[in-house]
Formats: sequence, C-alpha cells, structure tokens
Amino acid sequence: MLRTVETSRAKKTKGIAVTYRAGNGEKFGTCPPSCSLNDSGKGASEIDWQYFDALLDAVPRKGVSFTYSHFHWVDWFRKLKRDKTVINYSADNLPDAINAACYVPTVTVVNEAQWQGNKCFRVERDDIPEENRAVVRCPAEYRDISCAQCGDGEPFCARLNRKFIIGFTAHGPNKRKAADKRRKAVVMPRKVTAAYGGRIPQKVNKAKPTAKN
Ligand code: SF4
Repeated sequence: MLRTVETSRAKKTKGIAVTYRAGNGEKFGTCPPSCSLNDSGKGASEIDWQYFDALLDAVPRKGVSFTYSHFHWVDWFRKLKRDKTVINYSADNLPDAINAACYVPTVTVVNEAQWQGNKCFRVERDDIPEENRAVVRCPAEYRDISCAQCGDGEPFCARLNRKFIIGFTAHGPNKRKAADKRRKAVVMPRKVTAAYGGRIPQKVNKAKPTAKN
C-alpha cells in the first residue's frame, strides 16, 4: 500500500509532500524482520529494489527528498548518489549508528536522559577512538519547526555527506528498546569490513556541529 500526500498537515512534515508505504494487510510488510522495532515477527526478507530505485529518482525539481530504511546499509549504500533521494540508515542503537555513520547518513533513537538537557553529544568507536560522531537532536523536537525549516532550508535528513548522526528521542514502546546506555560503540564486524575491501572510514569533522555541518 502506497499513500501519497501532496501537502502534509502533520506537525513535523507540515507543508511538504510525503509518502507512506506499508505491506498489504500487514503494516510491517515492508520492514526487515531483523529490525528491533519490528516485533511483529513478520516482514520482508529483502528490499523491493524496483521500488527502491524509483524512490531514489523521486526528487522534486529544485528540491530535495529523503527517507529512512531499517534494512542494513551494506545492502544499499552503493546506490547513494548526489541529487538522488537521500536514504538514511535507521540504526537500532548508538553502537550500530556510529558504525553506519562512517559510510551512510544515519539516524537513531536516543533515550531522553541521554541528552542531559543538550541538543547534541558525541559517541566514539571503541576500536578507533578518533572515529567519533556528534549525535544531533532532531530540531523539530525542541523548536516549533517542520522538516521544511530544518537546517536553514537544507534539512538535516536530506544531507548526504553530513558528519553527524541525527537522534530522535524514544517514546512509548521504543523507549525500552533504545535503552542502550553505552556511549562507546562496538567494533564493526570483521566480515562487514572485508566486504568493503578494507575501505577506511572517512575522517570525522571534529568541529561542533552547526546547521551547515
Ligand atoms: S532532523 Fe530535520 S529533516 Fe530530519 S526529521 Fe528532524 S526536522 Fe525533519
């Protein structure tokens, strides 16, 4: 099922066009069963590549588009390109996020307590301490803005080469699932590293994130 809304009235997406896609008769039908936020026990075993490719091309003229995927980024990161829809990897937790953020734009869920009243904090990989990333809170959580006003007209989630992870504060049932309090990240599994032919993660920008990072 694909639902399109030309002009959204939802608080966060107000004024922009949005699409929603779910499986026929099963709302998790397009989700990977491995996703920790999908406790239905069902889902799609692989990405619908025909839809994925169409999604990449669905960029409005003089505009930007972005979306999120819980499918592992190793399956799709090579398809990311400038001037295409930006696919954000939706990581289950901070260790997963810092690994992914070396390669793809990444978002994750964060416990409220983790912000400690701030709008960002840093996480680092415990295997490569110099690899660290800022986790920046979605501005729509603390300002009366929508994605259209985010990032001074360049929405954070639409930035392909951003150096920071976007954090969404966990609510409801997701709160417990996001309860990973580790600030240090895990080592990227060796088999994944090998899949990239030894590619070295890009150096991080240690500057404090601003709207233009
Ligand atoms: S970070 Fe910005 S673009 Fe992403 S969901 Fe929040 S408001 Fe929208």
